[in-house]
Amino acid sequence: MLSDTALAAFRSALGSDRVFDDAATRAIYACDETPRQVEPDAVLFPTSHDEVAALARIAFEHRIALTPRGAGSGNVGGALPAPGSVVVSFECMRRVLEFDPANRLIVVETGMVTDDVDRVARSAGLFYPPDPGSGAYCRIGGNLAMNAAGPRAVKYGVTRDYVLGLRAVTGDGREIRTGCRTTKGVTGYDLTRLLIGSGGTLALITEATLKLLPAPEAVATLRVCFASSRDALDAVSRVMRQSVMPCALEFMDHRSIDAIRPTGTADDLPPGTRALLMVEADGAVEDLPRQIAALQQALDGNGLLEIRSGFDREAIAQLWAARKSLSHAVKRVAPLKVNEDVVVPVSQLADFVDFIDHTAHAHRLAAVSFGHAGNGNLHVNLMVHPDDADEMDRAHLALDAIILRALALGGTLSGEHGIGTEKRRFLDREIDPATLSLMRSIKQQFDPHGLLNPGKLFPD
Ligand SMILES: Cc1cc2nc3c(=O)[nH]c(=O)nc-3n(C[C@H](O)[C@H](O)[C@H](O)COP(=O)(O)OP(=O)(O)OC[C@H]3O[C@@H](n4cnc5c(N)ncnc54)[C@H](O)[C@@H]3O)c2cc1C
Repeated sequence: MLSDTALAAFRSALGSDRVFDDAATRAIYACDETPRQVEPDAVLFPTSHDEVAALARIAFEHRIALTPRGAGSGNVGGALPAPGSVVVSFECMRRVLEFDPANRLIVVETGMVTDDVDRVARSAGLFYPPDPGSGAYCRIGGNLAMNAAGPRAVKYGVTRDYVLGLRAVTGDGREIRTGCRTTKGVTGYDLTRLLIGSGGTLALITEATLKLLPAPEAVATLRVCFASSRDALDAVSRVMRQSVMPCALEFMDHRSIDAIRPTGTADDLPPGTRALLMVEADGAVEDLPRQIAALQQALDGNGLLEIRSGFDREAIAQLWAARKSLSHAVKRVAPLKVNEDVVVPVSQLADFVDFIDHTAHAHRLAAVSFGHAGNGNLHVNLMVHPDDADEMDRAHLALDAIILRALALGGTLSGEHGIGTEKRRFLDREIDPATLSLMRSIKQQFDPHGLLNPGKLFPD
């Protein structure tokens, strides 16, 4: 347990109303989206960069492990407290520090909710492209730590592509600034990119200077139904080979469609629909018809059952309803499913989904696959009951096979969810020993006593 001296030091630095060690608060902050729970010794709610720096120095002096936390919506145990650690919640750090439309940038505290950044940007005709499905509640700090992304990544890229600079505090309490305020800059090592995706293991990120883009004038959406996953994924390959870049290219397999049926959002799909693509284009109003025509031409092929289009806000929302209802629908079917986030080259997607279906069947499991097909990023959900030990064993065997296959196809372990506690046992399958050893040395430089998010990212 936390010593009285350390607790008193945290209270003196943050104020006693920002330091909680009562049982109820510790229980609330014991989990993220993974099924496991570990109660922290205390939860701290800093309100500024200076307070984060102060608490990090106290933690360093008393050798207390810290678990940074945004909204706790991560699915890999990244914000799961290490035993005996103290949670640093960024929820109270959500100010816009500067909004500079002329230079298309915004400086925010990292507890700001992702969609709020976009809302501020849009008030000046700009937008913030990263759009994770959890954008209504996840925080910029969590997005930075996991390099979050969403459907728009196929055209606009991921969180990493929109960060100009960061302010952060290392594990020994040093305050650092990385990057710059301009869209070009090559001064020194790129520590900004190093911190992004580091899962809270290198520094507590307190402020971010984010790049904004002019908001597209208009958007048009296609909902495309196919007779099989292979037909849909072959169409994805055709779309990615032609010149019009969609701003979303999402895939749902037949089990995903089955999962959303109780929500009513699949009622208007034509009979025989076994796979669905959501395809979106954006740009100048007068250019959209050309883009949509090119996309429709590429989508046309084997197994195409129906294309529905939407050009106004209401029609677009209706077309997206099926895809948007999916995450929660899948959770209702199997609340504690095994959830993967692998990526393969787009041209390999059809074969990979066949492999997943075959592997799941061979292990007597149901697999629900959907995801950001334009990036080759699939969310593979093995629907399991964690109390069933035999089923869990089979799920782990199937998962091993799926991950090895993704790597063999030239893919990667995680597209957007990160490694956390859940995937670290696979890390050395993708990263060679020399590179992994260099990563450990970098961790040592930022966090000499291993106090930042221990038990995450690296295999034991
Ligand atoms: C329904 C649903 C849909 C989702 N859809 C997507 C999606 O489309 N795309 C996607 O990428 N993810 C998605 N996610 C996963 C998750 O929302 C993202 O990983 C998100 O970036 C996590 O943000 P958070 O604020 O909840 O962070 P948390 O879960 O609290 O933390 C995530 C990691 O960030 C670290 N961290 C948090 N704040 C800081 C900080 N200030 N400094 C240093 N480290 C920090 C934590 O230690 C942890 O390792 C989804 C999750 C759910 C539940």
